[in-house]
Amino acid sequence: MEVLTTRRFEFSAAHRYWNPSWSPERNLEVFGKCTNEHGHGHNYVLEVTVAGEVDPDTGMVINLVDLKAIVGRVLEGFDHKHLNEDTPHFRDRQPTTENIVSVLWELIFGALPAVVRLAHLRLYETPDVFADYGGGPGAAFGRGYRFAAAHRLHSPALSPEENVATFGKCNNPAGHGHDYRFEVTVAGPVDAETGMVVNLADLDAAVAPLLEELDHTHLDRQQAHFAERPSTGENIVVYLWERLAAATGERLGWVRLWETPNNVFDYGGGA
Ligand SMILES: [Zn+2]
Ligand SMILES: [Zn+2]
Repeated sequence: MEVLTTRRFEFSAAHRYWNPSWSPERNLEVFGKCTNEHGHGHNYVLEVTVAGEVDPDTGMVINLVDLKAIVGRVLEGFDHKHLNEDTPHFRDRQPTTENIVSVLWELIFGALPAVVRLAHLRLYETPDVFADYGGGPGAAFGRGYRFAAAHRLHSPALSPEENVATFGKCNNPAGHGHDYRFEVTVAGPVDAETGMVVNLADLDAAVAPLLEELDHTHLDRQQAHFAERPSTGENIVVYLWERLAAATGERLGWVRLWETPNNVFDYGGGA
């Protein structure tokens, strides 16, 4: 019986994006402010997921004290450092979230005891920028977005009484609203020149029309899609995925939608 265990770690580090084989203009065009010659920094958050059999004596996959010590030793090389200047890992590749997470994978993979298997890493550069890595070629880049919208849960297929019985307070005729937040992941190979699966600026540009359309609107009254079906989290997350698939292509991974911090919906395409 294999069980997954995840522990969260934090480290703070500086970095800079610069491709020496490009002109300064090209660097600025692709990397923007991240080219600042003295660097800038982030509070990185790393989620380490390991998998293994539950030890019948300890009841654990791995003692989290041990995992903390193992990953902590790896992160000593990153915490309060300049990733380009103080580590050997980014001499020939950009210290992007995608590249940092794959370097961390190699280092943590090599340091774990044989009884567990490294299953997954997620590295947050900011609360709204992250990369996922599970070994092998490629990675996934993720980005969080927000929109504020009113809605009313109401189904044209149900009677007024059935609507009230099904949706309760959420059927209030004038509506209510939420600060919706959603995360988008795009999976694929990491470009050797940019260190990216997708440029954040390009992803933002692809998502912008959708945010513009949804933000500060009443979903049921102003979005034709929700005039015909209830604006539930399930229907919204599928709508977001379909719109984003059209904008970003077949590399779109999962969309995770928070209607409130307590109500979360995931959709990754398919039937
Ligand atoms: Zn940065
Ligand atoms: Zn609601």
